[in-house]
Amino acid sequence: MKKEYKKICSWCGRAFTTNKIKRHFCYDCSPEQTVTESHLDDNLSELSSYNKSNGTNLSYGQYMALKRVGKI
Ligand SMILES: [Zn+2]
Repeated sequence: MKKEYKKICSWCGRAFTTNKIKRHFCYDCSPEQTVTESHLDDNLSELSSYNKSNGTNLSYGQYMALKRVGKI
């Protein structure tokens, strides 16, 4: 039986399952082509400092969604 991992998409924040443990994005998003790993790391460190200074616990997807609509 193939192992399936339950993951949360790092882009849109939706849950999805995959058999690739290193997969970070759901099948709808697949932003690997446009987002480089280092860009992702920048956003992740932005996210953790945002969460720290605001006392929030946003996921990466939620944070990026707020950023895209200009609320951050
Ligand atoms: Zn997604």
